[in-house]
Amino acid sequence: MADCIFCKIAGHEIPSEVVYEDDAVIAFRDLNPQAPVHVLIVPKRHIDGVNAFVPADKVVVGHILVDVAPKIARQLEISESGYRLVINTGKQGGQTVDHLHVHLLGGRDMTWPPG
Ligand code: 5GP
Ligand code: ZN
Repeated sequence: MADCIFCKIAGHEIPSEVVYEDDAVIAFRDLNPQAPVHVLIVPKRHIDGVNAFVPADKVVVGHILVDVAPKIARQLEISESGYRLVINTGKQGGQTVDHLHVHLLGGRDMTWPPG
């Protein structure tokens, strides 16, 4: 999608620190990290966010949650210590980039409830 920053990162038009990539997904370090490990896991195909899901998105979303997130957690050695997966949705949910992304946060104790 034109002018979408995460589409441009997925297409390597904008540089990022990539930690994982396959045909469907790219994962890269957040520019403004909120934890020692802060990675964004993004489908390469543009999806606006959770409210825009269609049934076919189950494949890539399932891949992100079942395969990619735990793999990156193992790769970055936070699997055992624990981590948090977050999908901010809409204005009050704190979504600022309208291309679906799963935050993977770890390397410190997380607070609950989130602010
Ligand atoms: P949201 O607030 O939509 O859940 O998360 C968007 C995230 O994208 C933020 O944590 C922000 O720091 C990150 N971000 C925004 N622009 C860029 C960028 O150009 N590169 C990278 N690596 N992260 C970005
Ligand atoms: Zn996009």
